[in-house]
Amino acid sequence: MPIDFLYPEYEVIRNPQRCIACRVCERQCANEVHSYDQELNLMKSDESKCVNCHRCVALCPTRALKIVKTDHTFKTNANWTNEVIGEIYRQAGTGGMLLSSMGNPKPYPVYWDKILINASQVTNPSIDPLREPMETRTFLGKRPEKPERNLDGTLKTENLPPNLELSVPVMFSAMSYGSISYNAHESLARAAQELGIYYNTGEGGLHEDFYRYGANTIVQVASGRFGVHKDYLEAGAAIEIKIGQGAKPGIGGHLPGAKIVGDVSRTRMIPEGSDAISPAPHHDIYSIEDLRQLVYSLKEATDYKKPVIVKIAAVHNVAAIASGIARSGADIIAIDGYRGGTGAAPTRIRDNVGIPIELALAAVDERLRQEKIRNNVSLVVGGSIRNSADIVKAIALGADAVYIATAALLALGCHLCRSCQTGKCNWGIATQRPDLVKRLNPDIGYKRLVNLVSAWQHEIKEMMGGMGINSIEALKGNRLMLRGIGLNEKELEILGIKHAGE
Ligand code: SF4
Ligand code: SF4
Repeated sequence: MPIDFLYPEYEVIRNPQRCIACRVCERQCANEVHSYDQELNLMKSDESKCVNCHRCVALCPTRALKIVKTDHTFKTNANWTNEVIGEIYRQAGTGGMLLSSMGNPKPYPVYWDKILINASQVTNPSIDPLREPMETRTFLGKRPEKPERNLDGTLKTENLPPNLELSVPVMFSAMSYGSISYNAHESLARAAQELGIYYNTGEGGLHEDFYRYGANTIVQVASGRFGVHKDYLEAGAAIEIKIGQGAKPGIGGHLPGAKIVGDVSRTRMIPEGSDAISPAPHHDIYSIEDLRQLVYSLKEATDYKKPVIVKIAAVHNVAAIASGIARSGADIIAIDGYRGGTGAAPTRIRDNVGIPIELALAAVDERLRQEKIRNNVSLVVGGSIRNSADIVKAIALGADAVYIATAALLALGCHLCRSCQTGKCNWGIATQRPDLVKRLNPDIGYKRLVNLVSAWQHEIKEMMGGMGINSIEALKGNRLMLRGIGLNEKELEILGIKHAGE
């Protein structure tokens, strides 16, 4: 119907002087944008299918291609924008929810960019990390009430609560096998092992090939309980109960049947081709007492040897929720902010539900301190941690470590086209199509992840040294090291920091 016609969002610009009609772009594009016209001996483009993933641009041997945002527009209207009008046409045509992926792209405030880090001058001199020891190692889990010593003065190490040891306070966040490819999972697992950190299975179970990375694996138990069994629980270094996720707080997950093929179906323990639908709530959790039951069931099942993480989305009353979780027996609370990514989410929920991780973290850390239960749990935060400065700010605001996912996928080649839900990821990441999966070489992928986290580790050391701080422990919750810029009184109060100049 003409009503439904929408001019493509992106235009493929092909330079005819450069194009040699080699058809590489045609072979590389899973969305079938490019085609070859034999009669005219030239390449054509169907821009309506373009998702702007840049695969063709990156692989064109003559740099003949570029993708530009169209300047075609409806009559300018600050309220009824092109995007709003297009979405209404699409929903009026289909009657369905709009689906999207990755994180919330709306221009809400990014508080990390409104927080500045301190540096030493004259007194309390800075530390040179190239010449002096700098500790980025950290531990996640409950702290003992007080250190106990043996008769010979050595520290007692028996009966300590189980902890995770991280060489740097960064972990790869939950991404399920099924939502991402085998090669993407292998890259994450190998990188976690080499870096001395952890990656997370997400809710899809653990492929048998990856049990060997168990010492660096967090196994997730989500509401669908896909792929959860005793060996799975025992395989990981920690168990994460997923209650919520920043990209879609309050709703469950849906992996389309088309992605439940072969190993993915076997690992999830569901039939091939059946949709993997995780319910919105865990059907056995309606209170903190119920959560406590699950926490202790998982501890019991693994001989109390593994810390249990409870992951929630950052929502309005997050501090009270975290206080309850800290009392449930959980060892670690993971909080996912509203910019957190996903393989698929209803667009409206992704873009409108939840709160920024910066405010959630500051509120939770403060509440747990006030209630004198901060040492009962560690805090891990995620939801658009973009660089080492975000990590330093998160630690100073009270986090023990951060989760990264979108940044990790970018390191693997993701171009943030936000089309993961189609299963046709041209970079071999969010797909199960064998011809696409093999485009991501895990030997290269894992190395790029190691490079990224190592580079961040160097930067974290430099920033800590600049502050005159020589360990992550000394930076944790050290809000004096932060100042706000362009923030109102309420925002500064919630963040617990002073304004720049104070
Ligand atoms: S990859 Fe480049 S040179 Fe080859 S057909 Fe496509 S646009 Fe032309
Ligand atoms: S993972 Fe693939 S499909 Fe998803 S945003 Fe990145 S490039 Fe696009």
